[in-house]
Amino acid sequence: MTTIADNLQRVHARMAKACAAAGRDPATVSLLAVSKTFGAQAVAEAAAAGQRAFGENYIQEGVSKVLALRAAGLDALQWHCIGPVQSNKTRLVAEHFDWVQTVDRLKTAERLAAQRPAHLPALQICLQVNVDGGPSKSGVPPEDALALAQAVAQLPRLRVRGLMSIPDVAPDFEAQLALHLSARKLFDHIRAQGVAGLEEFDTLSLGMTADLEAAIHAGSTMVRVGTGIFGSRARVGA
Ligand SMILES: *Cc1c(COP(=O)(O)O)cnc(C)c1O
Repeated sequence: MTTIADNLQRVHARMAKACAAAGRDPATVSLLAVSKTFGAQAVAEAAAAGQRAFGENYIQEGVSKVLALRAAGLDALQWHCIGPVQSNKTRLVAEHFDWVQTVDRLKTAERLAAQRPAHLPALQICLQVNVDGGPSKSGVPPEDALALAQAVAQLPRLRVRGLMSIPDVAPDFEAQLALHLSARKLFDHIRAQGVAGLEEFDTLSLGMTADLEAAIHAGSTMVRVGTGIFGSRARVGA
């Protein structure tokens, strides 16, 4: 029988192998377990196997899991919002998540800053960047990312931590690598500007179950893995 604990071990082995191949220290790449569509029990199982950071795409679903796990005494988990954040959902996100990886407009950041409760630590922010350019896709265009990072860095209660990208599915390692490298280039460019407020711009959230090797090769510091840990999702469009 394949358990979540076994799957986690397999994903860590893949990550370690990719780091070795890329000449990187495995400690520089963290694993975000994407638990969307799976229940609180699956999260609890992963937590029991040592997984600490979880990603959710659907705000309401994520918040119910956060609350269920806290009620069960699992209050040391770290929750990342990795789905689109509509204006009417910013308050829920600001109140219940630790990270938001999908900020692509100043307006969203302003709402999150205004709504982040004062008793909580700063909300950790990654800007979602649209590296392959489809106009219908979420994400700030690469040429606007630096200006957005500078603007968000001025807001209270938020800490800008880096970039996140969800490139289109690419057919092979080389094509995946090329897309991930364009995110990496932008990440390095922004870091090199020495912008005030971006001292902790250290996170490059790239790679999922299918392409984590290419992402690690390109410099990802956080891979987001769902299927590889929890199995395939039943829900269409998930
Ligand atoms: C669903 C999702 C993932 C995980 O995808 P898998 O292919 O199941 O590993 C990662 N990142 C985002 C933004 C997602 O929506």
